[in-house]
Amino acid sequence: MSAQIIDGKAFAGTVREKVAAHVTKLKSENNITPGLAVVLVGEDPASQVYVRSKGKQTVEVGMKSVEHKLDVETSEADLLALIDQLNNDDSIHGILVQLPLPKHLDEDLVINSISPAKDVDGFHISNVGLLGTGQKSMVPCTPLGCLMMLRDHHGSLSGMDAVVIGRSNIVGKPMAQLLLGDSCTVTIAHSRTKDLPEVVRRADIVVAAVGRPEMVPGDWIKEGATVIDVGINRIPAPEKGEGKHRLVGDVDYASCAERAGAITPVPGGVGPMTIACLLANTLTACCRANGLEEPEGLTA
Ligand code: NDP
Repeated sequence: MSAQIIDGKAFAGTVREKVAAHVTKLKSENNITPGLAVVLVGEDPASQVYVRSKGKQTVEVGMKSVEHKLDVETSEADLLALIDQLNNDDSIHGILVQLPLPKHLDEDLVINSISPAKDVDGFHISNVGLLGTGQKSMVPCTPLGCLMMLRDHHGSLSGMDAVVIGRSNIVGKPMAQLLLGDSCTVTIAHSRTKDLPEVVRRADIVVAAVGRPEMVPGDWIKEGATVIDVGINRIPAPEKGEGKHRLVGDVDYASCAERAGAITPVPGGVGPMTIACLLANTLTACCRANGLEEPEGLTA
């Protein structure tokens, strides 16, 4: 079998179009412009790239984008004061604090100081609890993007066996909750899982969120299964020239694509969906804040 490629880049484009169309409607019918504030502390190069990309895409869908770039030495009190100001700003519907934060700042404290209604990353403890109890919440962007692609590909996920490899708070755990919410039978695997190959072989859906380049080989994959590769790993690529790198996922794409029914590539799979879902979450937060109907298909 040769797997169908789930094109996350194209799918993210359709999500952004849907968001942009709804933003246009909000502006013309309600005179409301959704606003996203991104806070970056320090000068981590990867974070700077993400923040630039988020700001650019926010503007492209017609939303207001505000960036707060703070010095690496910023005190916790100053950061909390900024978040408080954004929590009380009616033109801001989504607040994202770019992680990781410098070591002297308490990440949990900072994230939990964001108003849960504006927590478009879905990391606030209230949103974690709401998701865990099947209530309306802000859903973390990366797992939300994975869920959207799975629903689009399969229609209903009900009754499917899903294995999530990885139990992080930002990907693995919320992914498992979302799959459970869609009535999958869910297994969460991690570094202590016994006989991981056998566990993965049972899965109709495999979500790999491990952070280990090409860790999952094709012979772990059940024939026809759907493979969602969350991993983004930079590995040396001497074939491209000295000192060059390339991106690979957590699954060995070539061998997994031979057995899977469908698979997301890296790059061009889950990655582009993450920012698209951030925009979707900002729109959802704006609609909820104004008591307006939410657009369909943009949240769990
Ligand atoms: P974490 O490092 O927080 O979690 C990794 C998880 O993988 C842990 O639960 C760990 O288990 C598990 N693990 C590690 N080694 C093994 C192993 N040998 N067998 C089974 N499980 C193992 O990573 P994240 O969840 O933050 O990210 C995972 C990947 O997804 C990374 O490549 C990251 O770059 C990527 N990512 C991509 C995003 C996107 O937009 N596409 C967004 C976020 C992340 P244990 O808990 O036991 O240690």
